[in-house]
Amino acid sequence: MPLPLISERPLPGAPADVTGARRQLIDRLSADGRLPLGDWETLLSSPSQEDRAYARDRAAEVARSQFGNRVFVRGLIEFSSHCRQDCLYCGIRKSNRDAERYRLSPDEILACCAEGYRLGYRTFVLQSGEDARYTTEVVTDIVRRIRAAYPDCAITLSIGERSRAAYQQFFDAGANRFLLRHETADSEHYDRLHPAGRTLESRLACLSDLKEIGFQTGAGFMVGSPFQTVNHLAKDLVLLSELRPHMVGIGPFLPHHRTPFADQPAGSVDLTLFILSLVRLMLPTVLLPSTTALGTARAGARESGIQAGANVVMLNLSPPEQRPKYLLYDNKPVSGEVVEMTEAVRRSLGRIGYEMVVDRGDHPEAAR
Ligand code: SAM
Repeated sequence: MPLPLISERPLPGAPADVTGARRQLIDRLSADGRLPLGDWETLLSSPSQEDRAYARDRAAEVARSQFGNRVFVRGLIEFSSHCRQDCLYCGIRKSNRDAERYRLSPDEILACCAEGYRLGYRTFVLQSGEDARYTTEVVTDIVRRIRAAYPDCAITLSIGERSRAAYQQFFDAGANRFLLRHETADSEHYDRLHPAGRTLESRLACLSDLKEIGFQTGAGFMVGSPFQTVNHLAKDLVLLSELRPHMVGIGPFLPHHRTPFADQPAGSVDLTLFILSLVRLMLPTVLLPSTTALGTARAGARESGIQAGANVVMLNLSPPEQRPKYLLYDNKPVSGEVVEMTEAVRRSLGRIGYEMVVDRGDHPEAAR
């Protein structure tokens, strides 16, 4: 019998004996850094509130032992909302004719970096749709300029699938990190989320190229994406345990009103928090953001993400007038001056006992 869809599974309420078994699995995950697929399925099937609290407390201990109470902040620059791809879940997909499009020039991107640097940011994350106008040469030139102006900063790219030669050129120009979520580790599920022609195989080939080239590499997925089952999530976690990426981006799926998934339910915040904890236990040194999508899904959830084991937050350095055009999902926050947002997050992290730090925050392996 196929496992039920994530969105159909109520979270709380597993019987006590199942909870006991899950705790043993959580302990085993902490000790071994991996679990067989069937055990992941057990762990992810309707965890009780106690299971989630147990994983959260273990994960918070691990994060503290690795990073103390430090949370790294990254400056996100969304530099183009043009996209040649047509991912069914995404608000800036090519087929969304209502989406307003914009591009930042290299000078505008540099201006965002300058403001971020002034406020203490030491990592710039350049993200965009897959926009052919930013050729290999153009992106390389932007990376080179940022590298020259800010030699003490990390440069992260999140610009989708490119050739290995292009990735190599970005790395040689001074980019350090690359985020490319695998989206789902099940190829049939992948095909239901993406148009024909996109494959999980090519996504994974990109991730392997990025790692081999020497990037601090980030994979990840949405929790509660349409058609997702417990088996799919279990496969995602097995994939992460094998790939051992330096960064993992996980947030709930949130619907966008101008996509084919407009009427699909949002992913569960509680399940997302549980999975963040499991990832921290599996990969103790991983750079794990408490994502914007998580903070959007429920007030205070960004802080809950940190308490569940995440150790990174990303704040938007993009020009305020362009932010409403980079709408991946409904209700994505777009307002706020960078300086005020930075201070607000610093204060909210302080209230839960964490310190927002502005150093590069490299993965410990890369820092060595
Ligand atoms: N184009 C680049 C890429 O494909 O990696 C980077 C930009 S892409 C918009 C960044 C991430 O946003 C995707 O990997 C996806 O997981 C997430 N995303 C897109 N639509 C979303 C939605 N409706 N809800 C939550 N996350 C979404």
